[in-house]
Amino acid sequence: MTRTERLEREAGPLSERLAHALSRISLALRHQAQRGAAARGLTPTQGEILVWLSRHGPSTLGEVARGLAITPATASDAVEALAAKKLLRKQRGRPDARSLRLTLTARGQREAARAATWPGFLAEAAALLPEAEQRLLLAVLIRIVKSLQDRGQIPPARMCVTCTYFRPFAHAGTARPHHCDLVDAPFGEAYLRVDCPEHQPAPEGLAADNWEAWLARSSFPE
Ligand code: SF4
Repeated sequence: MTRTERLEREAGPLSERLAHALSRISLALRHQAQRGAAARGLTPTQGEILVWLSRHGPSTLGEVARGLAITPATASDAVEALAAKKLLRKQRGRPDARSLRLTLTARGQREAARAATWPGFLAEAAALLPEAEQRLLLAVLIRIVKSLQDRGQIPPARMCVTCTYFRPFAHAGTARPHHCDLVDAPFGEAYLRVDCPEHQPAPEGLAADNWEAWLARSSFPE
């Protein structure tokens, strides 16, 4: 066996090294969340709930637990602690008065805005990449997120590629190839959203067609 062959064998499969790199990023995110949360007298889960509610509006405990992929018991404990800190309140829902909806207080909104900046260090690191690489990374991450959510391993994200308003390559050959029917405007690949508040899940057939159309024409290096 040559030294190169040994080196390549010891490196292991490419997919495993990619997973390792992603897990390092995940570790950094957890550390940053713990530091940010501790400085505000919160836990990372409490911070995530505040950010979730600021992005999704009043929600039930079940919606929060499903959205953050945590158990109802974990969500319930964190919600009780946040309510005791007067960062959220529980209100009877409409039209179902039996359901309790969690709503941020004004203080909760301010804490949510601070907690939303915890992953900012990652955006700073990504901003150092050339724009073409940022676009490529976005497309790759959208593929990975879609694959994970199709397998039920993460909650669905509010991405353009799964949205009923998304028209991939409706303006093929232009700088803004995609179209958003909601605002009736074209937009470029770099502006694909991964957490759009206006997202509406596309019906199954349309979702599959849109995904295939985007995959087929989205530009990836050979
Ligand atoms: S509504 Fe939002 S998620 Fe849907 S296509 Fe328009 S920008 Fe994308």
